[in-house]
Amino acid sequence: RASSPDSGRHGSSDPAYLNPTLPVHRRVEDLLGRMTLEEKIGQMTQAERGAVADDPSLVADWQLGSVLSGGGSTPTPNTPEAWVDMVNEFQEQALGTRLGIPIIYGTDAVHGHANVYGATVFPHNIGLGATGDPRLARAIGEATAAEMRATGVPWNFGPCLCVARDERWGRTYESFSEDPDLVRRMATIVDGLQGHRRGPVPDDRVVATAKHYAGDGGTEFDEEIAEENEDLPWDERAFTIDQGITVTDRDDFEDIHLAPYRPAVLRHNVRTVMPSFSSVDWTEDGVGNPIRMHANAELITGVLKDDYRFRGFVLSDWEGIHQIPDPDNPDDDGLTPYKVRTAVNAGIDMFMEPFSAEEFQDLLLAEVDAGRVSMERIDDAVSRILRVKFQLGLFEQPYATKDHVDEVGSAEHRALARRAVADSQVLLKNDDDVLPLDRDGDIYVAGRNADDIGNQAGGWTITWQGQSGDVIPGTTILEGIQEVAPDADVTFSEDASAPVGDADVGIVVVGETPYAEGYGDVGGPVCTWCTHEQQEEKTLTLQPGDREVIDAVCAEVESCVVLIVSGRPQIVTDQLGSMDALVASWLPGSEGAGVADVLFGERPFTGTLPMTWPRSEEQVPINVGDEDYEPLFPYGHGLRTKGHR
Ligand code: BGC
Repeated sequence: RASSPDSGRHGSSDPAYLNPTLPVHRRVEDLLGRMTLEEKIGQMTQAERGAVADDPSLVADWQLGSVLSGGGSTPTPNTPEAWVDMVNEFQEQALGTRLGIPIIYGTDAVHGHANVYGATVFPHNIGLGATGDPRLARAIGEATAAEMRATGVPWNFGPCLCVARDERWGRTYESFSEDPDLVRRMATIVDGLQGHRRGPVPDDRVVATAKHYAGDGGTEFDEEIAEENEDLPWDERAFTIDQGITVTDRDDFEDIHLAPYRPAVLRHNVRTVMPSFSSVDWTEDGVGNPIRMHANAELITGVLKDDYRFRGFVLSDWEGIHQIPDPDNPDDDGLTPYKVRTAVNAGIDMFMEPFSAEEFQDLLLAEVDAGRVSMERIDDAVSRILRVKFQLGLFEQPYATKDHVDEVGSAEHRALARRAVADSQVLLKNDDDVLPLDRDGDIYVAGRNADDIGNQAGGWTITWQGQSGDVIPGTTILEGIQEVAPDADVTFSEDASAPVGDADVGIVVVGETPYAEGYGDVGGPVCTWCTHEQQEEKTLTLQPGDREVIDAVCAEVESCVVLIVSGRPQIVTDQLGSMDALVASWLPGSEGAGVADVLFGERPFTGTLPMTWPRSEEQVPINVGDEDYEPLFPYGHGLRTKGHR
């Protein structure tokens, strides 16, 4: 949060843009009129913390509009206080420039402010989708914003409004649902993050980003096309799931992928939008003329800015414009004049150029000088950026204080997360009402996700890819069981090698280990931007070790309860018969006790599937509404426990 107003900073003879009593548009106009072209281009540039950390004066040299912490780019030590110091240090540089325009610092707080050690880590979006509760989403947005502002960060690159249509996509868990209508309803998280729908952003709220515009969840995997594309550079191949091509007709694209954006802009007034790394191809048969979203003037300017009247600004994704194919330099995977002007003219306003800020600025300057980018376009981009900065109150209160660091990981936020975890659990099977469990039984707990908070939090936790092990403070599912059922006799054996003894109940917790973007760690090493071969090798079937633990435990106990901790449905069909109960736990985050709450009936199971649960690999992708829809569990499935309505 910002410091209390420093009345000494601005006197009455200050220029109009420093006068907080004037309407924002007047202040923007006044400031814009004072800026040089270089200063304007500076505002349009965002660099990575890692590019300026060793020499913060680069923030001033490059006149940066923004600095980001990409996933895992955290200060050392990674404490709330260190974040405040870091942001303030960069801010000091920005304020020392000729016009003293503050930077806007941004990061990915996509399931709570999970880059910060000690923050409350909420379930990933897929779990929130399972709750189907827009009010809960809003409350989580609010708590996340409070933790962010407590560390000095006023801008969140979230929520992902992706509609994940193929669970092989490594970002499936960032999606609320395969159903655009559910995604649309969960966009209330924007209200929680931003506070008011119009006007200023309160000092305990942040600016949100709707991403990745649009069609990121609809990219295709097509083996025939893949073969045809084998000789093309990777970013033009049509088989890629992540950052690939959404092949669709215009109506489907609007009904499925664009659907959440209209209300996000018109209703929730989301203030920034990030284009997708993917391309869209309107031709039905694929391999038509895919257009990179970062170059898509029709969708960015035509639809978003003109039709939806989006008044915020568009921020490119990480080196996103590098992927725009340059007809004159097809093999160049860096920046070129063509890529820069195409992206600016398509309507992108600020450029995430983590380690190429200066090069970007030189290229854009030359394009403006050559008349290939108009001053009008530059002024529009800069006005949009400045408007958001004024709305955030950054000119009045540019520095963060440490007064609110207690908000980070507060008991109140953890209680909210615990409730969210409970509400996100989906009871898929419950033979003979084995759930809820007695609190005083003999319980045998096994599986590699039972006592691993890193696995339970998933990607985008402390680091970009996330990590197994004791990476954040919180409660594992095992610890939650021990807390909620203190009188139970609990034996834990990760690999189920300990004898089952007297236990009549087994709880097996298996599933995925952390990954981010790409394809994910399914039966193999973490794979980002996989080759075709790597894609093919991977499956959604549980890993052999997980399957063995299920077999070992379920053969011994009377009641076998299996929990799947994962970012997406896993194929479990052939072992389903041995399980008495099956629960989709998703990626719950730091509060594993929420899982125990529903297991022991402290709270009812109310979650429902936000994604279809496939019967076999061959069925993937499968979505509600498909012809011959015969999944293992359909979209919306979710049992209730007895005694709960
Ligand atoms: C992701 C974005 C993210 C950005 C900054 C990119 O790789 O696609 O979702 O906001 O990195 O961390």
